[in-house]
Amino acid sequence: MSATDTTTTEAGRDFIRDIIQDDVDTGRVTTVVTRFPPEPNGYLHIGHAKAICLNFGVAEEYRGRCHLRFDDTNPTKEEQEFIDAIKRDVHWLGFDWGEHLYHASDYFEQLYEWAEYLIREGKAYVDDTPPDQMRSQRGTLTEPGQNSPYRYRSVEENLDLFRRMRAGEFPNGARVLRAKIDMASPNMNLRDPVLYRILHAEHPRTGNAWCVYPTYDYAHGQSDAIEGVTHSLCTLEFEDHRPLYDWLIENLPVPAHPHQYEFARLNIAYMVMSKRFLTRLVHEGRVSGWDDPRMPTLAGVRRRGIPAAALRDFVRRSGITKSNSVSEYASFEYSIRELLNRTALRRMAVLRPLKVVVENWSEGRTETLEAINNPEDPSAGTRPITFGRELYIERDDFMENPPKKFFRLGPGREVRLRYGYFITCREAVKNAAGEVVELRCTYDPATRGGNAPPDGRRVQATLHWVAAADAIKAEVRLYNHLFTRPDPGADGDLMADLNPNSLEVLHDCLVEPALAATPIGEAVQFERIGYFSADPDSTPGKPVFNRTVGLRDTWARVQTRG
Ligand code: ATP
Ligand code: MG
Repeated sequence: MSATDTTTTEAGRDFIRDIIQDDVDTGRVTTVVTRFPPEPNGYLHIGHAKAICLNFGVAEEYRGRCHLRFDDTNPTKEEQEFIDAIKRDVHWLGFDWGEHLYHASDYFEQLYEWAEYLIREGKAYVDDTPPDQMRSQRGTLTEPGQNSPYRYRSVEENLDLFRRMRAGEFPNGARVLRAKIDMASPNMNLRDPVLYRILHAEHPRTGNAWCVYPTYDYAHGQSDAIEGVTHSLCTLEFEDHRPLYDWLIENLPVPAHPHQYEFARLNIAYMVMSKRFLTRLVHEGRVSGWDDPRMPTLAGVRRRGIPAAALRDFVRRSGITKSNSVSEYASFEYSIRELLNRTALRRMAVLRPLKVVVENWSEGRTETLEAINNPEDPSAGTRPITFGRELYIERDDFMENPPKKFFRLGPGREVRLRYGYFITCREAVKNAAGEVVELRCTYDPATRGGNAPPDGRRVQATLHWVAAADAIKAEVRLYNHLFTRPDPGADGDLMADLNPNSLEVLHDCLVEPALAATPIGEAVQFERIGYFSADPDSTPGKPVFNRTVGLRDTWARVQTRG
């Protein structure tokens, strides 16, 4: 476990669960109601998985409910494609909102009425100040803001103007509705925050019914109250918004009084969790799409072959705290390997093939041997594999002049072919360019199944291989980090930190026939190489595999070696 994993106490408790437990114990809350409130302006990422696991997780644990609520208050950036993708991803992660699917836009009428209520109470006003001027009147962290000259409008004038804003009489940006709180507050969020802005834009759900839209701050807490949310859990950047959240709840005739609690965002080294930036990567064609397996999106994670259970495990281990931190990438990989080691079927695949001819194996003869599907799970059984005169091994497993620590194949050396036989290299055949293109070998019939011969002779290495007689061609896509540094963008330019070698495609891989029918998305272990999963780009004649994760943390080793 990495250092970041020590933050959740043993029983899987954390400060949020402690608060909820206390509310339940004291009877302040009878049914725990949470919500996950994505803005449908992009695909969900691994950071969102933390919020999903927390909100749906505590609702399950306390037999309450968790709502999926689309925070669709900004029609210029939101699309149906994103709404559909978000639903798919939440389901994939293993959670279900049941009947509790909501949209902030469902509440537009109620929110509007409450805005008029604030105006009538003298707690909101229409401001005509141009945006730049309004910004400079807001003051700074060290200087108080200035009151807008429009702050003293009468209730009647405010009501009239706000209704005309709704009726579409004014262009975008001409006026806003602001709460009348305190321009001298040390909390900038309380300096007469904007509640409504004019936006002549078609909304995916409400069409052209509205041309004024509520801000996040105004819509969010009131939506929580309407839905009876008891614990409104969000990330730390909203901590300074909580006084405004509370002010609105206290000053409006809302049916319930939800509370907001903040926790630290999930970050992972070498990754960027920002929808805005991920959108740029997609729009600028830096990746193949939202579901590119290098993307930290849930769609990318899924396509890469990472099981939802591994992501849930990682999120659980990374804990819920109030201090920001960055998880090690290795910690994420740990969760993936730990699960796949138990579940993935073992297969043999040769990524960079080198031909082997077994000279003392007669031409045309093949033999069926037995290979174990998963040594961690006897119930996974065995499968037949073919041995023959022509085989392929990994190019890297042969060296003409092997150094001392290289135990694999070399001239005159003997190795075991997994589940096959011991073979000895007699000759390396080269092409005109001097490259080794074929190995001439012999096998020992007394080593069938890869077992040691009666004379007790031992070999130092076991290699994976495929038989030319039945191997099939495959494409394999190897992924590396999308960024070259653990803290992308630390120097101010994220794009400059993109890794130009984040994808390597191998077109001429040879895999055993059992891999031909690998269901899309299912993870398999290529023996000695790593975990892979079949990509949707696979065709009946040619499967395409994504490397989900390597067998060992080669990246960390490379880093420390420098
Ligand atoms: P981004 O910064 O990527 O655009 P966001 O916070 O704007 O994300 P929302 O759709 O508003 O995206 O997020 C929905 C919920 O997910 C919010 O409650 C937010 O706090 C939470 N969330 C977003 N990113 C993370 C993260 N990295 N870790 C934990 N929770 C997150
Ligand atoms: Mg947001």
